[in-house]
Amino acid sequence: MFYVKATLAEGVEINIDITGENVYTRCPVCGKEMSVDIFEDATYTEICPYSTKYICEECTRKRKGEN
Ligand SMILES: [Zn+2]
Repeated sequence: MFYVKATLAEGVEINIDITGENVYTRCPVCGKEMSVDIFEDATYTEICPYSTKYICEECTRKRKGEN
């Protein structure tokens, strides 16, 4: 299990388990917030969680339509 650890204030630390449902990113095109299942996606594609930008479905469709 992976988890996120952050210090909110001195002596106040939070630990949050990363699940398939609580990781979010924003579409770099329209800024829409969306959940990303980093475990599921990593199974099928090569994804670096530090640099990958996810484009939302709507923008993906628009892009395909333009090309
Ligand atoms: Zn978008």
